[in-house]
Parts: sequence; structure tokens; C-alpha cells
Amino acid sequence: MNAAAFELAAPARVIFRAGAVREVGGLARGLGAHALLVTGRSAARSGVVTAPLEAAGVRWTSFAVGGEPTVDVARAGVAAARAAACDLVLGLGGGSALDAAKAIAALLGNGGDPLDYLEVVGRGQPLARPSLPWIAIPTTAGTGSEVTKNAVLAAPDHGVKASLRSPHMLARVALVDPDLLARLPAPVVAASGLDALSQLIEPLVSARANPLTDGLAREGIRRSAGALRRAHADARAGRELAPADRESLALASLFGGLCLANAGLGAVHGFAAPLGGMFDAPHGAVCAALLPAVLRVNGRALAARAPDAPALARLREVAALVTGRDGASLEDGVAWLAALTRDLEIPGLAQHGLEPARIDELVAKARSASSMKANPIALTDDELTEIATTSL
Ligand SMILES: [Zn+2]
Repeated sequence: MNAAAFELAAPARVIFRAGAVREVGGLARGLGAHALLVTGRSAARSGVVTAPLEAAGVRWTSFAVGGEPTVDVARAGVAAARAAACDLVLGLGGGSALDAAKAIAALLGNGGDPLDYLEVVGRGQPLARPSLPWIAIPTTAGTGSEVTKNAVLAAPDHGVKASLRSPHMLARVALVDPDLLARLPAPVVAASGLDALSQLIEPLVSARANPLTDGLAREGIRRSAGALRRAHADARAGRELAPADRESLALASLFGGLCLANAGLGAVHGFAAPLGGMFDAPHGAVCAALLPAVLRVNGRALAARAPDAPALARLREVAALVTGRDGASLEDGVAWLAALTRDLEIPGLAQHGLEPARIDELVAKARSASSMKANPIALTDDELTEIATTSL
């Protein structure tokens, strides 16, 4: 490997504990008096947060986000927070709610419109001032948004998703309570869990892999691979997820967020970004559908063009970690992951609207996606086409 060289950007405080959500009142009171509480589509389950807020004397205004956030959603959240004179933002939910909360807090701290700061489709100005303080409370185990410094917003007029990005956007506190995962629906366990697994595997084989994220990735992959199938079966049967599996999935998500923010991703996310813009396709399910083909094609490309690359040994390490067998080959690992996506009922990309006729357009967009730059080897258009075709 190259000489160690890395930076770590992470929230000042990460609290990981079963039952930790009950501490949100005191944490919020230390940061403000009136919170904008950003939730997913339904705020019905926000009692886990509002009861402790009430007990601590912190007021709140609810703001629900239906689906993945757009530029307009961020604008509406800023307006709601200003109207209620909020001095604090809480994000409670999956990646969509957390990204919305993160974007709203950044805009409240900096003023202006999302398009002033948005990469690619906006003016890309730096977010130079601190965000309003915000607390991230994840209720799914996938995106790791609680520890990352970017928020993905859809700009429907442009047919793409793009990021607001700044070290100022890190949460003041990431409050991770695995018990909030007890009643996750089976499709959410599958899609968010496999997103987390890809956010651990891609940084471990990334061109920017480093010793700090390597340790987190190895532990996260081992835990995620051990828990996902059992957690999905429990959710599908209407049972609560077992406490040990909640813990493993929450750790995998948290570690994946730290890994992607500090070591980059790869071709899975290089494809996921344009797919999310071209179709209304949920991020986690798309990543899950792509993962086996990306690993297979990366392995073949490395063996042919860079047989001494450390990434090839890393891919074999991934195979050993997911299968639990030291001598597992890359083919064993790919087969194990393909079986996992089948068992977790992950649909192919065609289900999200991708037709063979649009694969050339997809490949052209994926080639220049920012995540593609951290892929361990530059893939040819034929290889990218093969990934898209075999993930249909
Ligand atoms: Zn992802």
C-alpha cells in the first residue's frame, strides 16, 4: 500500500448506545431553545424524541420530508425554521430526513438559496459559515448520513442529484440508538443494509483506502454480513429485530458513513448517482443491485491490468469477510453477495425503469461521477456497460 496519509472529518460527538434517544432533551437544551424537527414522511413515530424534548423544556416545530429531498424541500424547511425562530435542527429518520436536516441547518447558517452552493447544477459557492447546530438521529441502518459532511438534494429541473458539501455541515451530535431499528420493515432492512455494506466494501478497496477507515470497514463488513439475512427474515415474519442484529446493523451504517466520508467510494456509487437522477430509484436498492457485478468486473479488470495492485488482495479479503471463510476466492465472495441480494428480494435495475436503450447514456454519466474516481481501477466503457447490463 501507499504510505499512510489521511484526514478524519467526523462529528465532534458520536453517542452509540441502546436507549440513547432518551438523552436527546438534555443534548438539545445545550444547543438551543426551539428545534426544527425534520422527520420522514410520517412524523407519527417522533414521540421518541418529542417526549424527551418536552421534559427538557425545548420547543419544536415539525417538518416532514416525503421521499428523497429536493431543492424545494430544503427551501421550505428553511422558511419553516425562520417562521418559528428555530435556533437548532434535529434530524430523525433515514438518509432522506437526515440529509434534509443537514441541508436546512447549513442554509440557515449561511443564508442564500440551495442553488448558490449546490455542486454540478448550482453555483458551487463554498458554505463558508457554520451550520445552525444540528443533531442527527438515524432510524434506518444504511446511509451513514449522521456522520458525513454532504447532503444530496434532487434538482428535478436538471434531472440529477447533487450535493451540498462542507466540513461545516457535520452534525454537532450523532445520536445512534440501535433500538430505533427494532421494527424496520423488511424492504428497508434489505435496501439500507446493503447500501451500508457497499459503503464499507467500496472504501476498503478504494484508491483512497487508509489504515483508519480500513479497521472500521473490516469490522463493519463482518458484522453486516453476519446480521443482514437474519434481520431480514425477522422483519419479514413481523418479528422485532434481535438486539444483537440491531447493534450490528447500526454499527455497519455508522462505520460505512465514516469510511465513505474519509476514503471515498467506487463504481457502485458512481452508477447510483446518475441512476438516482434519471429515475426515481431509491439509493439503497440501486446500490444493492449493482454490488455483485461491480466486484466481479473490478476483480477481472485488476487481474488483467494491475495484477500486483493491493486492491486485488483487498477484494479477496472482502470475500473472506462476507463468507466467513479464510480461503474464500473472489468468485466465492461475489456468489455469496449475489445470493444475499436474491434472498433479500432486491429487484434488478430494470424494475426502477432502466431499459437497455438507455445504458449508453447511463455509462456516459457514471464515467464522470465523482465516486467513480475512487474506484480501484479505471474501468473501460465495455466494462461499465457489462456492469449495467448484468445488473438489469
Ligand atoms: Zn450509498
